[in-house]
Amino acid sequence: MQTAVPNSGRSSEPVPSDPIVGIDLGTTNSLVAFCFASGPRVLGGGAGGAMVPSVVRFLADGSTVVGAAARATRLAHADETVASAKRLMGRSARETASFARGGSTPLVEGPRGMAALAVHGRVVTPQEVAAEVLRELRRIAEADLGVPVRRAVITVPAYFDDAQRQATRDAARLADLEAVRIVNEPTAASLAYGIGQAARAERIAVYDLGGGTFDVTILDIVPSDGGGTGADCFQVLSTAGDTALGGDDLDRAIAAHWLAGESGLVDDDATRAALLAAAEEAKIALSERASIEVEAMCTGGARRVALDRAELDRLAEPLVARTMAACRRALADAQTTVDEIDRVVLVGGSTRLSAVRAAVRAFFGREPYVALDPDRVVALGASVQAAIVAGGRRDLLLLDVIPLSLGIETVGGAIAKLIMRNSPIPARAVEHFSTSKDGQTSVRIHVLQGERELAEHCRSLGTFDLRGLPPMPAGIPQVEVSFLVDQNGVLSVSAREKRSGCEAAIQVVPSYGLTAEEVDRIEKESIENARADMTLHRIIDLRVHSELDLKWIGEALARVRGQLDPAYIVALEGAMSEVRGLCERAASDPRSVDADLFHRAKQSLDERSMRVHETAIAQSLRGAGT
Ligand code: AMP
Repeated sequence: MQTAVPNSGRSSEPVPSDPIVGIDLGTTNSLVAFCFASGPRVLGGGAGGAMVPSVVRFLADGSTVVGAAARATRLAHADETVASAKRLMGRSARETASFARGGSTPLVEGPRGMAALAVHGRVVTPQEVAAEVLRELRRIAEADLGVPVRRAVITVPAYFDDAQRQATRDAARLADLEAVRIVNEPTAASLAYGIGQAARAERIAVYDLGGGTFDVTILDIVPSDGGGTGADCFQVLSTAGDTALGGDDLDRAIAAHWLAGESGLVDDDATRAALLAAAEEAKIALSERASIEVEAMCTGGARRVALDRAELDRLAEPLVARTMAACRRALADAQTTVDEIDRVVLVGGSTRLSAVRAAVRAFFGREPYVALDPDRVVALGASVQAAIVAGGRRDLLLLDVIPLSLGIETVGGAIAKLIMRNSPIPARAVEHFSTSKDGQTSVRIHVLQGERELAEHCRSLGTFDLRGLPPMPAGIPQVEVSFLVDQNGVLSVSAREKRSGCEAAIQVVPSYGLTAEEVDRIEKESIENARADMTLHRIIDLRVHSELDLKWIGEALARVRGQLDPAYIVALEGAMSEVRGLCERAASDPRSVDADLFHRAKQSLDERSMRVHETAIAQSLRGAGT
């Protein structure tokens, strides 16, 4: 049993004295994560955690530089910089002779005929390179957690053979880390999503498209007695892919497209390098927008090059098609069909491409899991497995019911709850909303979790915009918002405007960062504040409805003023001005408004305004010739 100690590092949560971290030792980038009581987090760096480029520079004096600094000077010091050493791990020199590694340190035959590199006349094994990266990750973890780190769960591709797995263990040993488990990357990605906690067997497809490699893995989760022990109950059925296929190929295709289409470009190394960098920038920007223009420092001067989503999709097509062929192979090798796949998980930076998501969705006939950052999901899952090995919790939060209500923010800052606390999982809810302003062409959906009545007192899970609504008067568009919490507690929220058919969606894992204590605290606070919260919610609703009423009454009055008796107009305008005053006060300080008085004032305005509405309707009917 480990004891929790207050830590002296960056983290504010208690950390065991001998923690086990999770490490994603990647071909291009590596990460280290830890599973806190509130859930897993990538350690180091800013909010998202540190991504360490798997690049090591071996200097002549025997010292090393690891990560971003080594990558930055890679071209200038190509003879002493090693990148993508993972491709050589546990392989013979003969096997790897033709490998592209993205480095120019010569490949040599190391001990027992294994692949190694020559740097400054010294033989450096891929394990030594990996050990440098692991040491850096260990340093990051220790600084963040504030305790020594000696044990780790390390991930490897599902297709790694025994020699490659052993080489990974050896690298850990060189870095003074005990690899308590070697876990398959797709298994880790599944664990990050909490997959594996269901009582029944499930079949998962993990589609991993990075910068330079692609693989797809079909796994079965076999529930074991006692609810499973993490990665032990995952069985890899098949894996297929291509170790030289990824986002880099798309960058090259985009650069070639510009070279062919733009006049006056000089086809030389400098221009090609500039276009490649611009291609990646444009490709990434197109995840957020429909078209982009970027600058490339080409031979002869800076050039602006443009790309739009349709062109990107077209250029990505051959790459996507190759991955789909691998998916078909993986299914055939596993002797299964898409109908038998229960879930699809996306891993790797290139799965942010909309063309990839669309193709995966179409191929597997279901929405893939995308809620977690595809660059971090493997490290997060490795740390979940580490927590299981440490004998801590089996899960982040028991997910047989929804621990806190889920809803969206409505106009004025209140929350509309769609799925109530303690609803059994899976759960689904649909509700209709509309716009609050005339001609509004977008609606922001703010997804919230909590028991209080105001958005500001709830946990924000994420926001997205539903764009492209045709301009209509306030209250006319019908926005259908659907919530679906699946078996693993993953929440998918989608919004659809019924007339135009425009749609937008988001996926989140509401249980992340949530502990049982926090759930208790939130529940207690909601009880303590119940009365005040309800009153505030009521005042907000009164204000929102009154503002719409005032607008409609004002419009009707402008049309038929001449047909109404002046005394009636004076009384009506008096009632309008009272309600308007209350709305203004409610907007600046809702707590200063008496809800009952507001309710009575609104009611009285409703009654008084009947005549103006009736007169306006009668006039419209006459105008329509009835
Ligand atoms: P990984 O090897 O998993 O770190 O993935 C890196 C690859 O993901 C690179 O080719 C990046 O250009 C690509 N990538 C990162 N973000 C995006 C994005 N938003 N859209 C398309 N590709 C991306």
